Amino acid sequence: MYQPLSDRAGPPDVYVRAAPPPPPAQPLDGERNVDVAVIGGGFTGLSTALHLSAAGIGVAVLEANEFGWGASGRAFGQVVPYLKLSEAAVLRHYGPERGPRVVEAVAEGPDLVFELIRRHSIECWAMRSGLIFGAHSAAGQRDLERRAEYWRGRTAAVELLDAARCTELIGSTLYQAALLERRGGNINPFAYARGLAHAAAKAGVVLHTQARVRRLVRRDKRWTIDVGNARLMADNVVVATNAYSPDLWPGLRESIIPMRGHGFVTEPLSDNVRHTILPERQSLTDTRQLYSGVRLLPDGRLHASAHGPSFGAEPKPDWRRVDARIRRMYPQLGTVKWQQGWSGWVAMTTDHFPRLHELAPGLYAGLGYNGRGIAAATMMGRDLATLVRGKGDDATVFPVTSLRPVRWHAVVPTLIRGLVQVYRVQDAMNERKLGRSAAPVANAATNPPSTTSPS
Ligand SMILES: Cc1cc2nc3c(=O)[nH]c(=O)nc-3n(C[C@H](O)[C@H](O)[C@H](O)COP(=O)(O)OP(=O)(O)OC[C@H]3O[C@@H](n4cnc5c(N)ncnc54)[C@H](O)[C@@H]3O)c2cc1C
Repeated sequence: MYQPLSDRAGPPDVYVRAAPPPPPAQPLDGERNVDVAVIGGGFTGLSTALHLSAAGIGVAVLEANEFGWGASGRAFGQVVPYLKLSEAAVLRHYGPERGPRVVEAVAEGPDLVFELIRRHSIECWAMRSGLIFGAHSAAGQRDLERRAEYWRGRTAAVELLDAARCTELIGSTLYQAALLERRGGNINPFAYARGLAHAAAKAGVVLHTQARVRRLVRRDKRWTIDVGNARLMADNVVVATNAYSPDLWPGLRESIIPMRGHGFVTEPLSDNVRHTILPERQSLTDTRQLYSGVRLLPDGRLHASAHGPSFGAEPKPDWRRVDARIRRMYPQLGTVKWQQGWSGWVAMTTDHFPRLHELAPGLYAGLGYNGRGIAAATMMGRDLATLVRGKGDDATVFPVTSLRPVRWHAVVPTLIRGLVQVYRVQDAMNERKLGRSAAPVANAATNPPSTTSPS
């Protein structure tokens, strides 16, 4: 029976059930001192803590809820070797010196993630079988071809797929062309976050949950961090609250636009159709503007990322849209039993590039991954640790930039709502131009008809 998950409830059951137990954490009480305080316990904060502790620096992480509670524990799970925009856009944005460095480092982002998973024995469904990007329009296909062209001669990991290979690897006849990116992979993101927290605790990082930071004050060249009645004094502070950023520092919250992303899972599919869908266990997204992810989870559930209301508390996404998309793609599924839906906040920036800031002496922030944060936030944590250790931004992947609040921040959601409607129409028109619905792939009996659909 379908159940929408309350936003406050945190990560979805399907991730939580398969994750390690919560890491050891203690309440913050009284007054304490530490070298570095990290605010926020997602990938950015935990990676920062882990990289600092590896350098012998004392760290405490303050998390308002539990580790992985924010976007990190709700993500679709694709570990992507790209930022939001194309390689050409990255090179243009960062220029001839920094640009190639960013492209290369981001391409190695999944190496960092999967190496941390290996080194700390994190059980999180880690599977580096690659990612498939389907062409949802002629323009989308050209984008994929340009990407393949960029990597040709640089790596053998990027391959263009023709219609026959698409059918074989996707298990659907919907796509005529796609890109297979073998450097990427898939994980249970909540389990990864908890695993990072365990690794940090083992390395001596002090973890505090239910520790919502209320105020940040600079006094006598140190920072005082107020958490209710308790206080932490630190030489350096890293703010790692991303789309969940509160008003801790003037302009930080206004420098990004938080937008919701939604996820849905089905009940486990029957064996006869399960083996037909993404048989090599890549995940699939396509080139449409709105969310389009599909993957099969280890217990045979289908997981889809989808667009829904972009703003507001406790949104009620229309599950029928995702249902229609998935059934069009996989007619062999018959009726689909959707079990749970959830959402989380993604931090968008106006130019679609992440931000690394030194906000004041000894105060740093990294945020704005535009929905590509599993690898990028883990890398950002490494960058933040590098800055805290006194190395300049010559030593980081992302450059340090000054804080720039988004203009007309309060009205941007209204503009985005309008833009989303345009995207929806464009995506639907492109889908029609694909020219056909998928035919059931060979050897796939349909899923036994379900008794319930969400209502
Ligand atoms: C639905 C969805 C799907 C996504 N899919 C993908 C994907 O497939 N691949 C990908 O690469 N990226 C994906 N992303 C993006 C990715 O999840 C994020 O970029 C990444 O998790 C950001 O990590 P973070 O640590 O910076 O922020 P978060 O994980 O959001 O962590 C911020 C933390 O700060 C805490 N906090 C806030 N205020 C305070 C305070 N005052 N005091 C203490 N703590 C505080 C919050 O409780 C939260 O835990 C997705 C995101 C969403 C929402």
